[in-house]
Amino acid sequence: MDGMQFDATRRTVTPGERGAVAIVGAGPGDPELLTLRALAFVQRADVIVYDRLVGSAILDFAPDNCRRIDAGKRKGGAVMTQTAINALLVRQARLGRAVVRLKGGDPFIFGRGSEELDYLKRAGIATRVVPGITAATGCAAASGIPLTHRDHAAAVTFISGHAAGTNDGLDWAGLAHGDQTLVFYMALSTAGPTARRLIAKGRDPATPVAIVENGTLPTQRTILGTLGELEYLVHANAVSAPALVIIGTVAALASAMPREAIAV
Ligand code: SAH
Repeated sequence: MDGMQFDATRRTVTPGERGAVAIVGAGPGDPELLTLRALAFVQRADVIVYDRLVGSAILDFAPDNCRRIDAGKRKGGAVMTQTAINALLVRQARLGRAVVRLKGGDPFIFGRGSEELDYLKRAGIATRVVPGITAATGCAAASGIPLTHRDHAAAVTFISGHAAGTNDGLDWAGLAHGDQTLVFYMALSTAGPTARRLIAKGRDPATPVAIVENGTLPTQRTILGTLGELEYLVHANAVSAPALVIIGTVAALASAMPREAIAV
């Protein structure tokens, strides 16, 4: 076979392996939504470099002597640049440590996991990616909203909210039509432009929406309304990050039960 191939003979990085970096998805917040593999890597880490969205309950699974490094990045006031994080991961691996790069949700969904993976590979560091439950599926389950449904949505699309403010090349007319669910990550500051753009392309302003704040955590709020009032809902409820926006008729199926009743 020609072309690029996955080298199946290459050994896989295991939990606690020294000189290697595991890029691990921590899930949407609730520690019980970690995968068993993610837990194994965290429990045997020498160093954990974690993002802002990773809660302390998850870091508590790490050994007492594990070094925890906060790489939390904020829009505007970066705590650690991506370049600095990349260099840190390589340095720690070369010091012979078992390094875990712990990221919210899934590392490959709006998580820059692939940029870090690429950098590590080029530096010759052994790596492994451990998937996580992404915010969309975590928040949907915790709100009783099915992202697909035989009667409501034959497709679901994950979109970066930053896209709405830019010339992104996305097919907004396509996103505005048909039985489909849209999930916007990082959606708060662009909620207004997103809604206006979809409505301008033909989406009904009465389309149900759900805003899920702090999904899967004890502080979760799920706010229901319509596309036409999306921006108002964000402001009127003083929604703060992390939050995502689900747009589509499935949002109206949100469970009316309090979170305690629908959480596992
Ligand atoms: N890799 C992550 C996403 C990182 S981008 C994942 O797969 O989930 C950060 C965005 O994710 C936030 O702006 C928010 O839109 C969303 N997000 C992450 N955790 C969330 C949570 N617990 N509740 C609601 N939204 C969340």
